Amino acid sequence: MYDFIIIGGGIVGMSTAMQLIQDYPDAKILLLEKEAGLAMHQTGHNSGVIHAGVYYTPGSLKARFCLEGNKATKAFCDKHGIPYDECGKLLVATNALEMERMRALWERTAANGIKREWLTGTELRERERNIVGLGGIFVPSSGIVNYALVTAAMGREFETAGGEIRYKSEVLAIDEHSDEVVLRTGDQELHARFLITCSGLMADRVVRMLGIKPNFDICPFRGEYYLLPKQHNQIVNHLIYPIPDPAMPFLGVHLTRMIDGTVTVGPNAVLAMKREGYRKIDFSLTDMFDMLASPGILKVLKSNLRPGLIELKNSLFKGGYLQQVQKYCPSIVKDDLTAYPAGVRAQAVSPDGRLIDDFLFVKTTRSFNVCNAPSPAATSAIPIGAYIVNQVREQLATSGVSFGKPLIHRLANTDVCTTHE
Ligand SMILES: Cc1cc2nc3c(=O)[nH]c(=O)nc-3n(C[C@H](O)[C@H](O)[C@H](O)COP(=O)(O)OP(=O)(O)OC[C@H]3O[C@@H](n4cnc5c(N)ncnc54)[C@H](O)[C@@H]3O)c2cc1C
Repeated sequence: MYDFIIIGGGIVGMSTAMQLIQDYPDAKILLLEKEAGLAMHQTGHNSGVIHAGVYYTPGSLKARFCLEGNKATKAFCDKHGIPYDECGKLLVATNALEMERMRALWERTAANGIKREWLTGTELRERERNIVGLGGIFVPSSGIVNYALVTAAMGREFETAGGEIRYKSEVLAIDEHSDEVVLRTGDQELHARFLITCSGLMADRVVRMLGIKPNFDICPFRGEYYLLPKQHNQIVNHLIYPIPDPAMPFLGVHLTRMIDGTVTVGPNAVLAMKREGYRKIDFSLTDMFDMLASPGILKVLKSNLRPGLIELKNSLFKGGYLQQVQKYCPSIVKDDLTAYPAGVRAQAVSPDGRLIDDFLFVKTTRSFNVCNAPSPAATSAIPIGAYIVNQVREQLATSGVSFGKPLIHRLANTDVCTTHE
């Protein structure tokens, strides 16, 4: 019998496991991952940006976790010798409407307590000779890192402290009883006193295994990138972002200096026909059927038909994609865009057709489930893990289950959970 089983070896599951074992050093803790290694899905297929928290609603969990996560990620990297670069981010406005939106972002960054600088068009040009725009906001605390390396270091800390990780162990069934949770993988039956799930693109399916009808569905959006040729490695000094449309904040490709010195363009957001499908041609009947059977996803597709089709067109034809980046970096040409691995975002959608923006957690008596951990969840993984450990401790106290005295007092909890008792 394990004290805790955690499902998911992405950065959220691994950060939670690492902090759980710090709090409960005598507990028997197992992390189950269906792949052969850690960080094989969202965590290993992202832009690698350590976000500063520019866009998020002040006071939301997203804003709080990101601000804390920005510092915590850098401190973790310092401790573990993981390379990162605090290269800063430049948000660029290219027309009057974007200048107006930029002013709103300026206010928001103030409300979130983020250090930043307002740049005129000339100042922008002085800082970035290949970028054009009417003005910009420079945020010095944004950075870049390889999140797969961060997750691997978390895994080593967890194992050194006595935790166990089992790979190629896909959880196929879960039964929650009054005194334990029973999990089945292909060939094993495992027993735990408490279950934590951080299953990313499979979050709704894992919650369903607990016998809960989830009040959300996961809609997969592929994020496609291009790599610029080596001679463009110095094309920008910072991360370059367009000013987002507040109604579609995740749209708009950016120029990212990666930690290996290369520069990528992207990602876009195209509906994926397979949850873990990284190529345009990947297709899964099960995944498509689930999408078509979800009233929430159908409503999202209907109400976003136009931008959805534009994204699809730009995915199929480089020209449209190129136009987006040429708006602020006109020297990039079509032949500069070479293939680069895509990622797939797990976006939770509500039954009334809303893209759920903030983190979403679902609890049962003996489980805690992360159901929506959208970007910037890689940046925020350390505070999210701390938050989960706190929530679990409270749940255990309420249900009278004792695991010995936890060692560390973590951040105060905020109440944003859906509870299925
Ligand atoms: C294109 C893209 C760009 C992004 N850019 C950034 C960025 O620059 N900065 C940032 O902060 N965030 C970014 N994000 C968001 C960030 O990558 C994710 O929010 C974060 O990685 C989520 O981590 P996770 O652990 O929840 O999910 P995942 O990394 O997807 O991990 C979930 C794990 O659960 C496992 N699993 C699922 N079901 C089961 C099962 N039944 N049994 C066993 N194991 C199971 C999966 O195999 C997987 O390893 C980006 C995301 C994408 C897709």
